[in-house]
Amino acid sequence: MLKVGITGGIGSGKSTVCRVFSVLGIPVFHADLQAGRLQNEDPGIVKELKGLFGLEIYSAEGLLNRRMLASIVFNNRALLGKLNGIIHPAVHREFEIWSAGFSDFPYIIYEAAILFETGNFRNFDYTILVIADEQERIQRVSKRDNSRAEEVIQRMSNQMTDKEKIKMADFIIENNDNQLIISQVLKLDQLLRSKSHVWKMDR
Ligand code: ATP
Repeated sequence: MLKVGITGGIGSGKSTVCRVFSVLGIPVFHADLQAGRLQNEDPGIVKELKGLFGLEIYSAEGLLNRRMLASIVFNNRALLGKLNGIIHPAVHREFEIWSAGFSDFPYIIYEAAILFETGNFRNFDYTILVIADEQERIQRVSKRDNSRAEEVIQRMSNQMTDKEKIKMADFIIENNDNQLIISQVLKLDQLLRSKSHVWKMDR
């Protein structure tokens, strides 16, 4: 079973692409969703985050105040590094446990907003980068999250540019309005199955 990482900037459409892979029967692990879950549910992580950011980073109901956390780490690289050092290994452990259940699949997918930035891409057999024009991404996210373009641009500024990531990715999916992702995913699916030793598995 091959392990494939999918990433892409905000609003590039990586979740949309992953939905197509899911329809083809490919298991998809959503790293950012898992990170959110662990931050609220894993007692060890909750304790570490409270120690690092103060008790007030959690609400009375025990939910992490993501907005407060984001505003703290936005301008503090050292704290961001510590946060990542707590969350990323925990998410990766979850992924390893999860992926063990799919050994008879040709490949599985790990979807994350950040893959190249952390060096985590090295843990995968192949990487797929979803790209789309910046203006289009800003419009999509503003519409989806009902947020201002400036906020989206600010979030984008924390991520590596597509130009940098294109050099590192094995495969690229272009997701602008005039491009069809389904045919691109079907092609990649065939390619990945052909590279996998369980490619004959008909799922
Ligand atoms: P994020 O990193 O912010 O979670 P993402 O890369 O996972 O974003 P999606 O959530 O898949 O991106 O897509 C962003 C928004 O754009 C969604 O509302 C989605 O429905 C829409 N979208 C995705 N692809 C297209 C497309 N080709 N044309 C128009 N809208 C699209």
